[in-house]
Amino acid sequence: MDFEFNEEQKMFREAIRDFAEKDIAPLVNDAEEKERFPAHLFPHMGQLGYLCPKYPAELGGGGLGKMGDCILVEEVARVCVGISAALIIQSGLATAAMFAHGREEQKKKYLMPAITGKKIGAFGLTEANAGSDVAAIQTTATKSGKGYTLNGSKMFITNGPIADYVVVAAYTDKSKGAKGGISLFILDKETPGYTFRPMVKVCFRSSETAELSFDNCTVPAENLIGEEGRGFPYIVETLADGRISHAARSLGLAQAALEASLKYSQERVQFGQPIAKFQATSFKLARMAMELEAARWLVYHAAWLIDRGESCLKEASMAKLFASEMAVKAANEAMQIHGGYAFMMDSAIQRYFRDSRLFTITEGTSEIQQMVIAREIGLR
Ligand SMILES: Cc1cc2nc3c(=O)[nH]c(=O)nc-3n(C[C@H](O)[C@H](O)[C@H](O)COP(=O)(O)OP(=O)(O)OC[C@H]3O[C@@H](n4cnc5c(N)ncnc54)[C@H](O)[C@@H]3O)c2cc1C
Repeated sequence: MDFEFNEEQKMFREAIRDFAEKDIAPLVNDAEEKERFPAHLFPHMGQLGYLCPKYPAELGGGGLGKMGDCILVEEVARVCVGISAALIIQSGLATAAMFAHGREEQKKKYLMPAITGKKIGAFGLTEANAGSDVAAIQTTATKSGKGYTLNGSKMFITNGPIADYVVVAAYTDKSKGAKGGISLFILDKETPGYTFRPMVKVCFRSSETAELSFDNCTVPAENLIGEEGRGFPYIVETLADGRISHAARSLGLAQAALEASLKYSQERVQFGQPIAKFQATSFKLARMAMELEAARWLVYHAAWLIDRGESCLKEASMAKLFASEMAVKAANEAMQIHGGYAFMMDSAIQRYFRDSRLFTITEGTSEIQQMVIAREIGLR
């Protein structure tokens, strides 16, 4: 393993950090307050090649692979997790299966416009009665003359209110079970019978979330991604990739919490000295820095494996589990170090605290990650 980021990756990190601080940070308070994603960021970042850095340049991406994707997510999440949440979907779940298995026409019509920020994508898997248990989805796609007719609903869908298209998981043949009976479809927002209801959240407020409904939505046959019945393996691949991005997002938040805590603890004076001088505070900071460093190794190692074309189900789950729990702890310690000031709404610390709490739930809860790791180390 090469333990150095290469020059291109270092330059990309510098460019994204600069962009996040100058072009994203000033938008955060307004976006969080109004619960509106600053939608101009999609075309703006797409034009700069900052939206989907992992995809090849010929499709409009940056050609930087999964490492590039993680650098983007980490740096944007350091400034705002909610905004990074919307971007993660675009560079991951809403495009990954299409990139790996989609037809040329789909790539031209949906994938390339998504990579360049001309179209916004969403990914609909979760339903009211199917969260961790993907096989329990009830949305169906029945073959009809013009393609497939979709019926059902999806819950908690990031980018739902602003998406131009949604990649939807639906049963095409329930009798074959999840492994052979689920397929993925691209549903256009203009499709008759498609509606959504925005949802209000306690965290990630600058990303928009919706419940989606499909009432006899006709999807043309050419919008089926890959082969009929192969949706489940496509989802498994997509989720492993997505888990690494989620873990990178945890790094960004923990980095922000650590930086703020280091600064505040050296400025805040109690009992005649900066609180950083109290061993109780310095030990907290030392542990935060150590756990962040350990998580960063796990995340970039998993990304590196993906870029080498190696299987990394275990490493992706380990990175997600460790980094998400590390960020929850880091945000909690930052609250403690900042005392009462952390609880004021104009403090970024309370936002880190709220946002971090979701990390151990989305893209597979901590319990699900442990099930994957246990299976991958040989427990069946
Ligand atoms: C803000 C937000 C954005 C989201 N964005 C998207 C999106 O864009 N697309 C999408 O498809 N989904 C999205 N989700 C859904 C998210 O991925 C799910 O919330 C997550 O998978 C967990 O499902 P659930 O909430 O139904 O919890 P459940 O699956 O009901 O889990 C509840 C609890 O039971 C535990 N549990 C469940 N099964 C087991 C088991 N076998 N063993 C041990 N414990 C178990 C869980 O670990 C958890 O602690 C989003 C959710 C939120 C909140």
